[in-house]
Amino acid sequence: MSPLEDGFSRRFYYLRLSVTDVCNFRCTYCLPDGYRPDGRKSFLSQEEIRRVVAGFAAMGTRKVRLTGGEPSLRRDFTQIIETVANTPGIEKVAMTTNGYRLKERAQEWFDAGLTALNVSVDSLDPRQFHQITGENKLAEVMEGIEAVLAAGFKSVKINAVLLKGLNDRQLGAFLAWIKDKPIELRFIELMQTGEMDSLFRDHHTSGELIKQQLLGDGWVQQLRGQDDGPAQVFMHPQSRGGVGLIMPYSKDFCAGCNRLRVSSVGKLHLCLFGDNGVELRDLLSADAQQDELQQRIRHALTGKVATHRLHEGNAGMTPHLASIGG
Ligand code: SAM
Ligand code: SF4
Repeated sequence: MSPLEDGFSRRFYYLRLSVTDVCNFRCTYCLPDGYRPDGRKSFLSQEEIRRVVAGFAAMGTRKVRLTGGEPSLRRDFTQIIETVANTPGIEKVAMTTNGYRLKERAQEWFDAGLTALNVSVDSLDPRQFHQITGENKLAEVMEGIEAVLAAGFKSVKINAVLLKGLNDRQLGAFLAWIKDKPIELRFIELMQTGEMDSLFRDHHTSGELIKQQLLGDGWVQQLRGQDDGPAQVFMHPQSRGGVGLIMPYSKDFCAGCNRLRVSSVGKLHLCLFGDNGVELRDLLSADAQQDELQQRIRHALTGKVATHRLHEGNAGMTPHLASIGG
């Protein structure tokens, strides 16, 4: 079967699957007031996850990233990894986590088939970490990262949301930390979402400033591989770790889009900043619905637009990234 392709000849081998909206952190840029339960929601079950991933895999998806909310809050998270890793066609299973349970579970998740991890660490300063995430847990998260490397993962990616006046002053500390570690540090430009007010105005800054600093200090931009994400990656001859910059406000950011998203309640989102999503859940209750499921996904892709409208301050229907999986 031909791979998933949209009207702009972009091909989609990569699915980001949210397994829960719930989170135990209160990041200022995401859930500043913490997670507010919505009593009506029930998240995708193991069987529904198996079917949706099988549908995508049959249409060429090779990599699945499990995200949320905080994915490790799901009690059956290890089984979810197993289910996805055992789906024919899936070669890579990644997750994005705030580090919760990482120290205790890194080995178990590796053994279950997890192949890659992104851990969010917005600051290496414990007080600033607390200020940004609402949790005083930097030490715990750092122990988790050590456990990841000890468990057999070849490398780990660290996500830091770039915040002017806060962690943008931490570049030196971050670079010293990754100097002798197999870590790719990724600065993500703060994206304005529906529920964000003054934070964006006060703390958004362009990754270009970091890029110029890196280039001036002898870091070299790497060529982008076909299956790579949207990060611009930089390496330095004297550093084992690398730096990635994710700049969604930069020109051509969407041209290389290779990912689709399914929310924790089974809606297909063609863009992080798109519309209400396309319902898939009614086609996840039996294996016999696979043909119809795949047809619906393929048809939905014809509606994928060329680019998001963040530049106009338009984040679509996305209230915060925890809602459809950042
Ligand atoms: N809870 C997990 C975590 O924090 O890693 C996974 C979900 S979180 C929504 C995924 C990523 O999105 C995190 O690295 C987080 O820092 C990033 N993120 C959340 N809101 C953002 C925003 N408004 N702008 C840029 N990145 C954001
Ligand atoms: Fe939770 Fe991740 Fe959002 Fe922070 S960024 S509040 S850890 S979902």
